[in-house]
Amino acid sequence: MRPKTCVVTGASKGIGRGIAERFGAAGCEVVVNYRSSDEAAAETVDRVETAGGSAIAVPADVTDLTEVEAMRDEAHDAFGSVDVLVNNAGITQDVRFKEMSHEEWDVVLDVHLDGTFHCTRTFYDDLAAAEGGRLVNISSIIGKEGNFGQANYATAKAGIFGFTRTLALELARTGSTANCVAPGFIETDMLADVPEKIREGILEDVPLDRFGEPEEIADAVRFLASGDSSYMTGQTLSVNGGKHL
Ligand code: NAP
Repeated sequence: MRPKTCVVTGASKGIGRGIAERFGAAGCEVVVNYRSSDEAAAETVDRVETAGGSAIAVPADVTDLTEVEAMRDEAHDAFGSVDVLVNNAGITQDVRFKEMSHEEWDVVLDVHLDGTFHCTRTFYDDLAAAEGGRLVNISSIIGKEGNFGQANYATAKAGIFGFTRTLALELARTGSTANCVAPGFIETDMLADVPEKIREGILEDVPLDRFGEPEEIADAVRFLASGDSSYMTGQTLSVNGGKHL
C-alpha cells in the first residue's frame, strides 16, 4: 500500500508543525503549507524527514483560492492525490468587541473560514476518492465557550463545528470522514502573545494545571486521520486538560 499523503495548513510552526511531525513518524508524505515563514517551514520538512516521512514545503495563503489551487498542483506533482487534509492555519487579532474594526473581524474570519472553505473545496475530490479519506479541522475551545476580546476568533471557530458536521454528512457516502479537534490552551506563538497575568488566570481553570503541547494535539489528529477512527464522523475531540468537562 502506498503511504498516505497529508496536507497540513499552517505547518511552519506550532500545532501544525507537531501534526506534520506526527504524520512523518507514521511514514506519511506531508505537504507542509505556510504563508510566509520559509525557514521555519524548511525546519518542519527536516523534522518530518527525520521522523521517517517525506515532505515538501508549499507556501500558499489559504485566503487566496488561486494559491491554494497551485498548492494542490504541487502536491499532486510530488506525491499524487491527497488522502488527508488538516485545516489548521490560524491567526488571532484580539480586541474587545466595542473597539473591533470591520477589518479585524474580516481578517480572522477570512483565514479560518474562507481558508477552510478554499482548502476543503480544492481537495474535496481527492478526499472523496481516497480509500479512507480524512478531513480534520482544528477548531478551539473558544468556539464553544467564547472569550473576552475574541468575538472574531470565537465566531470563526464556532463556524468550523457546523462546517465539519455538514461535510461529515456530505462525505459519508464516499466512505471518507470529517472530524474536528478543539484544543484548549496550547504552548505556541499564538499563546505567547497572551499577557502573563491572563495566562496565569487561564491556568487556574485547567484541572491538569498546565498548558498543552502541540504534540498532544497532534496525537488526537493522528487518531482522526487514521483507520483507528473509521466509524467516527462529524465529531469533535476536545483536548484541553479538562478545562471544560
Ligand atoms: P501559530 O503557532 O501562530 O502558527 C500559525 C500557523 O498558521 C503558521 O504556520 C502560519 O504560517 C500559518 N498561517 C497563518 N495565516 C495563514 C494563511 N493565511 N495561510 C497559510 N498559513 C497561515 O498558531 P498555533 O497556535 O499553532 O495554531 C494552529 C491552529 O490551532 C489555529 O487554527 C489556532 O486557531 C488553533 N488553536 C490554537 C490554540 C493555542 O492555544 N495555541 C488553541 C486552540 C486552537 P506563517 O508562519 O508562514 O505565517
